[in-house]
Amino acid sequence: MIPYARQQIEADDVAAMVAALRAPFLTTGPKVAEFEAAFADHVGADHAVAVNSGTAALHAAMQALSIGPGDDVIVPAITFAATANCALFQGATPVIVDVEAERLLIDPERVEAAVTPRTRAIIAVDYAGHPCAYDELRAIAEAHHLALVTDGCHALGARWRGRQVGEIADLTCFSFHPVKHLCTGEGGMVTTADARLAAAMRSFRSHCMSRDFCERERSGGWEYDVTDLGFNYRLTDMQCALGVTQLAKQSEWLARRRELARGYRDRLAGVPLVRPLPESAAVEHAYHLFVVRVPAGARRQVFERLRASGVGVNVHYRPLNLHTIYQRRLGAAKGDCPVAEAAYQEILSLPMYPGLRDEELDEVVDKLAAALAEARA
Ligand SMILES: *Cc1c(COP(=O)(O)O)cnc(C)c1O
Repeated sequence: MIPYARQQIEADDVAAMVAALRAPFLTTGPKVAEFEAAFADHVGADHAVAVNSGTAALHAAMQALSIGPGDDVIVPAITFAATANCALFQGATPVIVDVEAERLLIDPERVEAAVTPRTRAIIAVDYAGHPCAYDELRAIAEAHHLALVTDGCHALGARWRGRQVGEIADLTCFSFHPVKHLCTGEGGMVTTADARLAAAMRSFRSHCMSRDFCERERSGGWEYDVTDLGFNYRLTDMQCALGVTQLAKQSEWLARRRELARGYRDRLAGVPLVRPLPESAAVEHAYHLFVVRVPAGARRQVFERLRASGVGVNVHYRPLNLHTIYQRRLGAAKGDCPVAEAAYQEILSLPMYPGLRDEELDEVVDKLAAALAEARA
């Protein structure tokens, strides 16, 4: 089976993790700071705060911005549930807006139309690894005094007008789940240029305690104060050791993802009825996903044929407004996001990961063409 995504774990990753396991600190130790510094440097951010999932990263971002009951947070319809849930965790209300029809990114016109006096933040999702329309989004955020947050869980290594995802928004959240660019098993990171927000997130990931274990050890005291409601969102030193070795290979892996994307585009140009999502000239795409559109009437059959023939295609994502939780809690309904809902009938994520070989790329394209021909017959 060729999966749609797969982690790459090599000998140096294993060695680094084993060494971390034998070190004095298994958590809240020196590997955390080392991974954070390397990550901040990699994406051009001033601060990076490690947490134990992308979901925790989004939650920490909301808490650092003091988002709470009575606040609205604007999110796109095409994303993973955690993008909206981070507002709900804080007692705030996610406001789901439709996407634009080409790249399925949050539509700035709909964002503008959704802003009210309750709005506090926009979460832009760089879907598939394609950065959003940040000039328009920044202008809206500035005009209405909103925080601009990026859910960059698909977009490590992407650039928009030369600037990296991680240094564009006020806060950028990343995930290190095995299907993402960099794997720590589970893990996440938030980057920011704001030292005050970084400090708030460091506190939040460790129960909002005034001094962590290491600081108390250094000062020899036992006292601490719990200043607010925090969580245990800490990433272990073993995971951070893995993060450091994985990060060192990101540029090479990203180049391979882009090469695969070019390979798909070249090969698919000759296949009728398949349209890859387009790439804007202003960006360098990170290709977490390679998403194509096929005719809605053929999609299910193509999906099933490919799965049956050993090609692990997937669908990202069922629009948020179609999920029970948002219908129940927000009054969202079918028909709210017509662009996202129409796209959802057509999209397929093809296999995309640095270890995918050229022969496998050929195999995926051949099987996709055959499945489509069969579905149309
Ligand atoms: C993966 C992902 C998340 C959540 O990350 P976890 O590490 O699985 O918690 C959030 N948003 C998007 C867009 C994602 O792809």
